[in-house]
Amino acid sequence: MAKDYYQILGIDKKAPKDEIKKAFRTLAHKYHPDKKTGDDAKFKEINEAYSILSDDSKRAQYDQFGSAGPNGGFGGGYNNSSGGFDGFDFSQFTQGGGSGFEFDFGDIFGDVFGGGRRNQAKRGRDISIDIELSFEDSIFGVERTVLLNKVSKCDICSGTGAKKGTEQVICTKCNGKGSVREVKRTFFGQFESQSKCEECQGTGKVPKEKCQTCSGMGILKKETEIKVKIPSGIDNGEMIRLSGAGEATSGGQSGDLYIKVYVKKHALFRKEDTNLIMDLGIKLTDALLGSEVNIKSLDGDITLKIPEGLKQGEILRIKGKGVPYDKGYRGDILIRTGIIMPNKLSRDTKKLIESLKKEGL
Ligand SMILES: [Zn+2]
Ligand SMILES: [Zn+2]
Repeated sequence: MAKDYYQILGIDKKAPKDEIKKAFRTLAHKYHPDKKTGDDAKFKEINEAYSILSDDSKRAQYDQFGSAGPNGGFGGGYNNSSGGFDGFDFSQFTQGGGSGFEFDFGDIFGDVFGGGRRNQAKRGRDISIDIELSFEDSIFGVERTVLLNKVSKCDICSGTGAKKGTEQVICTKCNGKGSVREVKRTFFGQFESQSKCEECQGTGKVPKEKCQTCSGMGILKKETEIKVKIPSGIDNGEMIRLSGAGEATSGGQSGDLYIKVYVKKHALFRKEDTNLIMDLGIKLTDALLGSEVNIKSLDGDITLKIPEGLKQGEILRIKGKGVPYDKGYRGDILIRTGIIMPNKLSRDTKKLIESLKKEGL
């Protein structure tokens, strides 16, 4: 039942902490959904493994019991959708707290990707969800509204944390400087460091009266509707990133929203670049004499002309009814034909064919 977190990170059971961190960074970098080599499922798995093995007590518990949570680990509730929206997969990024799985994305990303974001402003969590699309919607594009229960900016105070109409006053903790000095005494002597003032988030000002809706935080957890424009011609497994649509954070930049798209299979068509491909069986007589057949395309019924003397495997084309690309341009429908040979010949048919044979056909 339990996953082998050591195997997931490719490390030894006795690996020291820095080795765990190193393995995690290498893998997170490789499989991050935003990258070409990205793999959403793997990325989640790596994060899960790291969250356990990087924590001494969780790691000890995992080593002993094979799980690290009070209810037997994270396996069970990992993919629960927290709101009950059909077809959505709320990843662990939205599950802050709860089962005890907390993961500081800002921290990791600062190190792995930003190269110094750690020292910059705080950043909200990224959220990752799945969306299922019909084949038609994936071809033509569609606008979807998703409902997310996430930490968002407070609408009442527009994220300022101040009660409406109240003025901003100078922060008393930092005297309006936005940063505070800290003096640390260590074995080597006394060190002075400067850090951002937590009280005013570095702005030097605080509201005289706090917004009651968000208790002055400027953010609160609530259901938020997000409109997602799915572009035409999107492929199964492709990822859309909505910058800033992730979780908000007090006095920092919002995280991003990652939307992974799953496209349902179509009974008739499959997509290849800008073309739609389908298979079509043609009766032997239609292939010999030519005919017309009805094609149920995504644009409705289309009459397809079967040319006289159709060859086995010949590809027929309906122009401009494929996948839209650029402005007003569309690919084609490619029809791979196969000639259906009769199973059984009646005595009369046989006679007819024998006469064809005599003609040298
Ligand atoms: Zn507010
Ligand atoms: Zn301050």
